[in-house]
Amino acid sequence: MAEHEHVRVAVIGSGFGGLGAAVRLRREGITDFVVLERAGSVGGTWRDNSYPGCACDVPSHLYSFSFAPNPDWPRTFSGQEHIRAYLEHVADTFGLRPHIRLNHEVVMMRWDGDALRWEIETAQGRLSADVVVSATGPLSDPKTPDIPGLDGFPGKVFHSARWDHDYDLRGKRVAVIGTGASAIQIVPAIQPDVARLTLFQRTPPWVMPRLDRAITGPERWLHRQLPFTGKARRGLLFGIRELQVTAFTKHPNQLGAIESLAKANMAKAIKDPHLRAKLTPSYRIGCKRILLSSSYYPALAQRNVDVVASGLREVRGSTVVAADGTEAEVDAIVFGTGFHVTDMPIAERVVGADGITLAEAWKDGMESLRGATAAGFPNWMTIIGPNTGLGNSSMILMIESQLNYLADYLRQLRVLGGRAALGARASAVHAWNRRVQDRMKRTVWNTGGCDSWYLDANGRNTTIWPGTPSEFRRATRAVNLAEYEVIRARSEQETAGDRTGAVTGAAEAVA
Ligand code: NAP
Repeated sequence: MAEHEHVRVAVIGSGFGGLGAAVRLRREGITDFVVLERAGSVGGTWRDNSYPGCACDVPSHLYSFSFAPNPDWPRTFSGQEHIRAYLEHVADTFGLRPHIRLNHEVVMMRWDGDALRWEIETAQGRLSADVVVSATGPLSDPKTPDIPGLDGFPGKVFHSARWDHDYDLRGKRVAVIGTGASAIQIVPAIQPDVARLTLFQRTPPWVMPRLDRAITGPERWLHRQLPFTGKARRGLLFGIRELQVTAFTKHPNQLGAIESLAKANMAKAIKDPHLRAKLTPSYRIGCKRILLSSSYYPALAQRNVDVVASGLREVRGSTVVAADGTEAEVDAIVFGTGFHVTDMPIAERVVGADGITLAEAWKDGMESLRGATAAGFPNWMTIIGPNTGLGNSSMILMIESQLNYLADYLRQLRVLGGRAALGARASAVHAWNRRVQDRMKRTVWNTGGCDSWYLDANGRNTTIWPGTPSEFRRATRAVNLAEYEVIRARSEQETAGDRTGAVTGAAEAVA
C-alpha cells in the first residue's frame, strides 16, 4: 500500500461542529489533526444558505460559541453573512487555518481493523486517522422532491440552499415550494421584486413574531468593555429557553396558550378569512419547528402572492400543478424543501468494522450512543448525531456538549496507551436509545399530530433530544468506559497473549 499521511484526528466539515471540534482539539493539546472540507471555504450550512432573507431564528448571543463571544453582533437575530463572517473569524482567531484542507470532499472512509485506523479517501488523495470526527451536519445535503415533469421545465430551478445569485428574479413569476424555516424567510425577501409569487404550502407552519432589532452602539460598547454583560445576556437567553423545554417534552398541552399568540400574529396581517383558514395549522404548536417572522404574513397578504394550500405534484412544461389540481405558469421554481436529515448521505461513505456502511447499519433508523458513536464503527464520532437536535434553543449548546464528550474520548484513549480503539457496545447503544425513545413518547414532536423532518421513514424521532440542553450536557460530560469495548492492535494483543495465552484474533475487544 502506498505511503500516505497519517493524523491523530480527521475532522470532516468546517461548519460550527467542525470548527468547534478543531478549537477543542487544540485546547486539548492535540495539533496532529486535519479538517477536511468539501467546499472552498469554511462555514457549513451558513456558507451554503445564502438565500435572500437568510438569518438565524436563535438570538446571536446564544447562537455562538461560549468560548468565542462576539460583543459586536449587529442584530438580535443576525443575518447569514454575519454568522458566516463569525465562523471565518473563529478559523482565524484560533489558528485553525493550517489544519483546514479545503476542496477535500471525503469520498469514502473505511475502518482498518488490523491497523486500528480509518483509511480516508478524499477528492484530493488519501490519508489515515486514528479517530474520525464527522461534523457534516444534518442540514448539509439539500432535498428536492422527485416531481414528475421537473426535468422538462424550461425555466430556472434551484434549492434554497443552492441559491443562484446570477438569476434575476425581478419581474418573474416564481413558485416557492415549501413553508419551512427557509421558505418563510425567502417569501418576504423576494415578494416585492417578483411579478407573481405562488407559494405551495403542503402543511401550514405556526409562525410567531420575530422581535428583531439592531443591537445599539452603547450595548455593544458595554459588551466589549465588560465581557460579563455579554455572558449575562447569553445566560438569560439560555435560561428562558431551558425553562420552556418541559412544555415541549412533558406538557405539550401548555403550548396551547402560545397558539393564541401565533393566531393573533396572523390575524394582524391577514384580513381575508379564507386565506387565514388556509394558513391556520391543525396540529399542536411546536410539533414542527415554531417559525419566527414578522414579515411572512404581511407578504402573503400582498396582491402579487397566491397561496396554494397543497403540495407540488407535477410540472407540465412551464406549468406547476398542485396535488389539489391548482395550476400556475411560472418562470422559476424555488425549492425550500429542506435537507436529508434522517438519511444523511455521509452515512453511505463510512464503512465500519463489519464491512458494512453506516447507512446499512442505520437502515431501520439512526442509532448512536449519546448522540456520538455507533456500534461497529470504532473511533468514529459524529457531532450533531442522532437525537441531539433541539426544538427551541441553540444547537451550539449541543455541539459544545458533544465537544466535551470528544475531549474525554480522546483522553480515555490516551490513558489506555498504545494502539487502542473504543467501540460502542451494541447493548449500550440500545439501552441509550430505549431511554431516549421512552422519553420521546410524551413530547410534542411525537404527540402533536404532525409529520415533520424530525421523524424518519418509520415515523421514529431520531433527530430531537427529548430533554433540556443541560441534561444533555450532563449525559456527555464524560465517556463511561463500561459502554465501550477496548480494542487493541494485534501486535499488542499478541504481547499480552504471549503472557496469558489468550490470543484469538486480529484486533479484538478486550474489555
Ligand atoms: P423544512 O423545515 O424541512 O421544510 C421543508 C418544507 O418543504 C416543508 O414545508 C414541507 O412541507 C415542504 N415540502 C416538501 N415537499 C413538498 C412538496 N412536494 N410540495 C410542497 N411542499 C413541500 O426545510 P427548511 O425550511 O429548509 O428548514 C430546515 C431546517 O433548517 C429548519 O427546521 C431549521 O432547523 C433550519 N433552518 C433554520 C433557520 C434559522 O433561522 N435558524 C432558517 C432556515 C432553516 P411539509 O411541512 O408538509 O412536510
